Amino acid sequence: MSDLGKSMSRRDLLRDAGAVLALSVLDAPVLPQVRADTTLPPDPARSENEATRFRGKWHGEQCYFGFHHDLHVIKSDRHIGAECDPKQLAQMLKLTGADFVQTDSKGHPGLTSWFSKTPGASVGPGVVKDWVLAWREATKELGLPLHCHYSGVFDISAGAKHPEWCIVGPDGKPVRREFEGMASTGGSTMCPRGPYVDELMIPQLLELIDRYDINGFWVDGDSWATTPCYCDRCRAAFKSKTGIAEPPKTPNDPHWAEWWNFTREGFEQYVARYCDAVHRHKPGVLVCSNWLQTLRNPGEPKVPTDWISGDNTPVWGVDDSRCEARFISTRGKPWDIMLWCFYTSRGGHGFAVDWVMKPVQMLQQEAAVILAMGGNVQTCENPFTGTRNGRLVPWRLKRIGELARFVKSRRDLCQGADSIPQVAVLHSEHHAYSAPGGRDLIGSIDVTPIRGAVSSLLECHYGVDILDEWALLPRLARFPIVVVSEKERMSEKMVDAFMKYVSAGGRLLVAGTAVFDRFGDKFFGIKGSRVAPGNYYLPAADGVVPLSTTWRLVETAEAKGLGTLGTTVFRDEQLLPNPAATLHRVGSGAVAYIPCDIFREFAANRYPLVRTFIHDVLRALAGKMEIEVDAPTCVDVVLRRKDAKRMVHLINRASGIPNLPNSPVIDEIPPVGPVTMTMSLPRKPKNVSLAFEEATLRWGYASGQNAQQLKIEVAAVHIHAAVVVEEDV
Ligand SMILES: [Zn+2]
Repeated sequence: MSDLGKSMSRRDLLRDAGAVLALSVLDAPVLPQVRADTTLPPDPARSENEATRFRGKWHGEQCYFGFHHDLHVIKSDRHIGAECDPKQLAQMLKLTGADFVQTDSKGHPGLTSWFSKTPGASVGPGVVKDWVLAWREATKELGLPLHCHYSGVFDISAGAKHPEWCIVGPDGKPVRREFEGMASTGGSTMCPRGPYVDELMIPQLLELIDRYDINGFWVDGDSWATTPCYCDRCRAAFKSKTGIAEPPKTPNDPHWAEWWNFTREGFEQYVARYCDAVHRHKPGVLVCSNWLQTLRNPGEPKVPTDWISGDNTPVWGVDDSRCEARFISTRGKPWDIMLWCFYTSRGGHGFAVDWVMKPVQMLQQEAAVILAMGGNVQTCENPFTGTRNGRLVPWRLKRIGELARFVKSRRDLCQGADSIPQVAVLHSEHHAYSAPGGRDLIGSIDVTPIRGAVSSLLECHYGVDILDEWALLPRLARFPIVVVSEKERMSEKMVDAFMKYVSAGGRLLVAGTAVFDRFGDKFFGIKGSRVAPGNYYLPAADGVVPLSTTWRLVETAEAKGLGTLGTTVFRDEQLLPNPAATLHRVGSGAVAYIPCDIFREFAANRYPLVRTFIHDVLRALAGKMEIEVDAPTCVDVVLRRKDAKRMVHLINRASGIPNLPNSPVIDEIPPVGPVTMTMSLPRKPKNVSLAFEEATLRWGYASGQNAQQLKIEVAAVHIHAAVVVEEDV
């Protein structure tokens, strides 16, 4: 970490010709801190709304770790269910330590693994024994809830039988997706406005409930398989809503955002329809639509699913989950993330890939970033090769059992804890939905600047939450720092709220070339600027780092410049007259501005000096935080509170086996440390301890005129430990 700004004056810096970073112009923090010692209570102003909003349901606290088994029956399968013996299956499931179980009922090919009697059902031709029945009997014996994996919008068999049910592409032909060599000439994704949901999907879900007493549905192939539909039904509905007779064909055409959002709303109505049908038929049966209400689906979570879940990428899962968990945890619903317990080094997808079971430590590291944020965890077992008959693989299940023990040992402290607000990263739904960049409902949302912001802030050991406008507006004042990462299309209401937030003492970091215009010169204390792409160098620590992108070259008025932008790799040559960032005190607070898309750049380059620069700007903006952690860069911090306990979770993202482009494996994780932290506390705590792992912990409390501070040192963290500070109540 940089120690710039601790002792040098601006004059010293300028005299030291190479030292172009001028963060030290700021004195030690003088601005009043927004109080950060409260968790996130519901907003009283919204209590009525909160009361009427569907907040989902779950089986109970004891259901914490889940085992999911994919299948996706295809036409060439020959022995589906042949080895499904409930007694043996129960023995196998015991090895996993699962609290709830999910198994196949219908995959993307649209073929059931059971003998569905719903008219129009497509039963897999190779089903020799009822798969769902065996899993139901086994889970009943173990007293575990059973969910069915059911492919929603993506159904190749229904598309073959009913081309008129299908999503029609801009070329007027049904949209075709293949799966393991199976494709339909008629189309393979279902129009959310078509008869599919009423004539096949809902009857089949209800049949599963009635025949097998199924406890829930994890609907896959849903939002990510949905694209705009140009069928007559959808065209007519769009025209009636907007008056636009001819929907746009590409994201570059006029009215694309209206058309794409119309698609999103149609999809949401379709999900609400099957949720309502299931809930009406048997209250207590839970429904989830894979990836709905996650990072790429911001905004008020109105669709009445019971819980939120998504299956993580098979590799680099920690990085994805760091963002997903920080957003999903603000939705107000039960949630989990599903870890693939297998990966491949060669890329690709499907049955023919050389999938291999992950080392247990890799799974534990992936689980830790979810658990620390309060989520449940489930893991997906690979049924793709060698086990199509229903036989499970004991050695892999034992690894999952080891993961289960790791997960469950964390339940008491992780489950039900709340965030201690420190840094909020804005994920504006208005920004996201005003310019969707593609066709499908998940892949069209650009979250790159959010990923850049979160990963850089975590590398600086801040506690970070991601909130959309819906979640942030009522809680804004509780966050000492808010980061706006290149969100130029946020709502006017959000801009106004930020201005008031800063006046009242908040610290706002705004980054981005275009977002400048949403606030204007006066707010930033700037008297002029021009936008100019080029090869620029950013000063940080002992060097400079290239950020060749479009910068806004600003001239300061009341604002102070933080560092000087350069044009060469030398720290003292051909410097521009423009600052690399600015800081402006407004009312009781302050706003810092980084005039380029620095978080998008960081998401792509992860240059350590870029992170150092961001950290220096934040320190200049906000001064000392109530909780500060100094740790190796690979350690993520999560700040949580439960009852009288404050927790500082420490998650080690390192791998003992260095990663390469063709080797994403994490194993032999080396313990890292020491980790030191300070916490402002009004009284000496009752106890300070380390949870989950064994390591030396030392602490001391100093009570003086200027500070009442707890200091803690933890010798090392292996995968996931938590410092627990217990206060007297
Ligand atoms: Zn349609």
